[in-house]
Amino acid sequence: MTDRSIPLAGVIGNPISHSKSPKLFRHWLKTYNRSGYYIPMPVQEGDLETVIRTLPSMGFVGCNVTIPHKVDVLQIADLATDRATLIGAANTLIFRRDGKIHADNTDGYGFIANLKQGAPGWAPSIGPAAVLGAGGAARAVIASLIEVGVQEIYLTNRTRPKAEALQSAFGTKVTVVDWVQAGNMLEEAATVVNTTSLGMQGQPELRVPLDGLRRGTVVTDLVYTPLKTRFLAEAEEAGCITIDGLGMLLHQAVPGFERWFGVRPEVDVDTRAAILG
Ligand code: NAP
Repeated sequence: MTDRSIPLAGVIGNPISHSKSPKLFRHWLKTYNRSGYYIPMPVQEGDLETVIRTLPSMGFVGCNVTIPHKVDVLQIADLATDRATLIGAANTLIFRRDGKIHADNTDGYGFIANLKQGAPGWAPSIGPAAVLGAGGAARAVIASLIEVGVQEIYLTNRTRPKAEALQSAFGTKVTVVDWVQAGNMLEEAATVVNTTSLGMQGQPELRVPLDGLRRGTVVTDLVYTPLKTRFLAEAEEAGCITIDGLGMLLHQAVPGFERWFGVRPEVDVDTRAAILG
């Protein structure tokens, strides 16, 4: 057993230099006056299992996992939460004292926490949700919307079979809508989520017609570079409540920080400023 009095944690990905997590964890370690370190670790696919199996003996109490390893770590872990299994990916590993590696996925938690913080009146009962995109992030978003009790989810994706695969995984609460009809589903929606990478710096814009959006609809974008995407700017002009994607990134880190460093951190204006500064 290694000394865990100065816990080590970190984030594994490839590449990893762009990750905001080290800055975030450094901010919280300082704010809450905790001992410990959080280290970015570039890891190649072929080395993933060796690295993960070695970290606990070096004093690591856990780590976050990002692209491209989120799916593969689930196979390496000894145990996984139901939500990680349902989503088919993990972003948080806990190295237990009994030597077992426990995988969790906190993206959905981060998504819902961000939604509630950005739109305090938001509740699952406000009406159907419309989700654009059917990639890895969409799986976490849909799982979390269903978990909190949203009854109806319209899902659209450029590649329709991927949306249909998610419908098969999540069941009858999900209705697949053709990508060319995406604008129509917004008329029904009380919550709209962009989970595609469209609108991100260096990517094409999301060009779904937004004229159907109702005033007061809660609209959120998972993209956070830029913070205010064109999609969010147009939704704001249409009188919607808009929430950027940075909050999801910050909130998804909360359970890991609490577990590894012993205090539940706040996602507040100082946290955002520390990351953006
Ligand atoms: P992914 O698995 O690669 O999925 C990408 C999605 O974008 C797919 O639905 C894809 O559609 C769609 N897409 C890409 N290019 C497109 C185009 N030209 N036209 C139409 N659709 C297009 O990626 P992901 O992991 O789900 O991440 C998606 C976005 O969410 C990224 O920008 C990522 O940074 C962001 N994200 C943010 C957070 C956060 O904490 N805020 C967390 C996770 C992800 P096809 O299936 O047709 O290719």
